[in-house]
Amino acid sequence: MKLMGRSIVTLLPFVPRFFVRWISKRYVAGENLNDAVLVMKKLQSENTCFTVDVLGEEIRNMAEASYFLKEYNLLLDAIVENKLDANISIKPTALGLLIDREGACSNLMKLLKKASENDIFVRLDMEDNRVTQSTIDLVYEMHQKGINNVGTVLQARLFRTSDDIEKVCSITHKNSDLRICKGIYLEPEEIAHTNYLDIVDATILAVDQLLDNGAYTAIASHDDPIINHSLKSLRSRGMGPNLDDPRGNAGLKIKGKGHGYEFQFLLGVRGDERRKLAQAGHLTRVYIPYGSRWYEYSMRRLRENPEIAIHVAKAFLLPWTNRR
Ligand code: FAD
Repeated sequence: MKLMGRSIVTLLPFVPRFFVRWISKRYVAGENLNDAVLVMKKLQSENTCFTVDVLGEEIRNMAEASYFLKEYNLLLDAIVENKLDANISIKPTALGLLIDREGACSNLMKLLKKASENDIFVRLDMEDNRVTQSTIDLVYEMHQKGINNVGTVLQARLFRTSDDIEKVCSITHKNSDLRICKGIYLEPEEIAHTNYLDIVDATILAVDQLLDNGAYTAIASHDDPIINHSLKSLRSRGMGPNLDDPRGNAGLKIKGKGHGYEFQFLLGVRGDERRKLAQAGHLTRVYIPYGSRWYEYSMRRLRENPEIAIHVAKAFLLPWTNRR
């Protein structure tokens, strides 16, 4: 399977742009904000909520950050105007984290202030290991300033994640809110698990650790062993649909949050499973990426993790196996 993924990736530069656009349609809401709003309006009948990402990351100069600042401002306005049950996901390097930390911090504070005025939560997506600590530090800094409507993501494949869960939960305490995922970036074996089963085991452990530490736990995986284990773990802790979270410190009360946990899915991936969970009463959230940089985003993600190419090929060849 890995070989197949790599072969597809080797061929990528020769794939016509229109074809990449056609494939990415399934996973990207569109090029502009209106496209994203339309997709959310359509999907909200499936009893789900959203987190919206403006495509793009790692800017080269701070002038580029103004594009993201402006677009996220428009996005926040659109969420409010259209009464969407949505929060936002931001890549800190798109705000300038790798080139000007102070500038990135000030950009983030502007967005957090506006989001907070509208009771909207902001998630800092986690990027590669160059920014793991600095992204977590941004969350600490904001919470220390009393700005609590922000959380981040931890990647279970990283060896450090178990320690990070303990630290983040002890520092942000009752306002801890973490998305847990396997991690999209193929990190070196010195710092990360590289084998599928080890990554699944680490993700399962991380879900349990988050639940036991009282964090609001956003489970972001399409993988059955992780979803099934999470359901069992929730049940055994007296958590689930229509049950008040029995833990004392289960996250900042903010519009649109579930009872201490939620399941998150990427747009276009395993809609069947998401609908099943929603029908059973669990809060589900769809990650909605949009923006003009869809081509760079699709190509970079494919290069970073060739296994995605297999899913894309499967969705293309066997579309009935995976409804959006
Ligand atoms: P996989 O084993 O990859 O997938 C399980 C099954 O889901 C597959 O067998 C297949 O049936 C289906 N599937 C998975 N992907 C696709 C696809 N593209 N098309 C069709 N079917 C597919 N990673 C980060 O590093 N940082 C983040 O901030 C981050 N945020 C995320 C937010 C959300 C909401 C989600 C769902 C994921 C996020 N990720 C992030 C990515 C994550 O780390 C994984 O790389 C990704 O979810 C794939 O792992 P999986 O657990 O879904 O399992």
